[in-house]
Amino acid sequence: MGKLSNSAIVETTTWSQYIPEETIREWQDIVELIARLSDARLGLVMRVVEDSIQVFVSSKTENNPYHVGDSAHLIGSGLYCERVIATQKPLRVPNALQSVEWRNNPDIAFNMISYLGIPIQWPCGKPFGTICVLDDKENAYSSDLLLLLEKMRNLIEHHLRLEQARDVAEATNRALQSANAELNRRATTDSLTGAYNRRYFEQAAVVGIARAQRYGEPLSLLLCDIDHFKAVNDNQGHQVGDKVLIAMTRLMQDHLREVDLMARWGGEEFVVLLPHCAGVEAVIVAEKLRALVADWPFPEVGAITVSVGVVQLRPNESLDDSFKRVDHALYAAKASGRDCVRLGQ
Ligand code: GH3
Ligand code: MG
Ligand code: MG
Repeated sequence: MGKLSNSAIVETTTWSQYIPEETIREWQDIVELIARLSDARLGLVMRVVEDSIQVFVSSKTENNPYHVGDSAHLIGSGLYCERVIATQKPLRVPNALQSVEWRNNPDIAFNMISYLGIPIQWPCGKPFGTICVLDDKENAYSSDLLLLLEKMRNLIEHHLRLEQARDVAEATNRALQSANAELNRRATTDSLTGAYNRRYFEQAAVVGIARAQRYGEPLSLLLCDIDHFKAVNDNQGHQVGDKVLIAMTRLMQDHLREVDLMARWGGEEFVVLLPHCAGVEAVIVAEKLRALVADWPFPEVGAITVSVGVVQLRPNESLDDSFKRVDHALYAAKASGRDCVRLGQ
């Protein structure tokens, strides 16, 4: 007889079938009440778990030999509850000792010679188990008691429906949240490289600029453009060009700080906003990136180089204005023969 661990029960249905403690406490009150009103020794809620039947709730009545977690193999057990579960009908046995059918059932070992039980179903109609009373004396169990048991069973089934509804709502919520996160990811990133897209960059940069201005911190902008990229596409094919863009994104992401905001600005142009970074420091970062790219043999393509424009944002300068300046700086780098970095004025 293993101890029942409610939270560990995993059933093969679409919902967890976990029954919370507060619901179990309600059921406890129910079994106490029916045991008292039936003048029986004890009341139980039994639960089918895989191929066994377990004591799920047991009244705290005196000399109750059934403990939560006690279990028995269901099929062929010969238990009163097996019959209720098999037939999905109520069972009343006023005195098993006087019944050929019941006088050798296993509950006689506990001296439980009378029984009244009814089936409980999951919302899907599958057997959950039973609610029952047992007694160590003959007990006629009135029709009113059967009615009461049915009312209590209805309450328990109602709890199960509520639990299922809560579970479904939580699962729906989780699915919605992850769909939302996925939508958000798609809206903010570039599908080819996975880098942030221009739209996200513009939104996030405005926040970064406002913050730097408020705290008087230096902030710099890099615009990085692959040199002669058209030739890569023309000579090696567009797919190879795509691979270069993906590799370039990875390389930049790997070598920038967490706080840096990098995005694919357009075709083969990448933009980076560097917080806490003055222009001269940003030039060092840009130079490091340029050198890394130049030294990195891109598979299938050979050497790739980049030109980089750099500016430090002026006090109260807008993203648009700083972009015009960084674009000029990039143009100057291209005009200087490419594979170089230029700091804009
Ligand atoms: P420059 O050194 O002056 O920058 O020359 P460039 O050839 O790099 O510049 P240009 O603007 O003439 O060409 C950019 C090329 O980038 C053209 C376009 O086909 C390519 N491109 C833009 N987006 C993608 C993309 O998503 N995948 C691939 N493979 N190529 C792209
Ligand atoms: Mg370009
Ligand atoms: Mg280019």
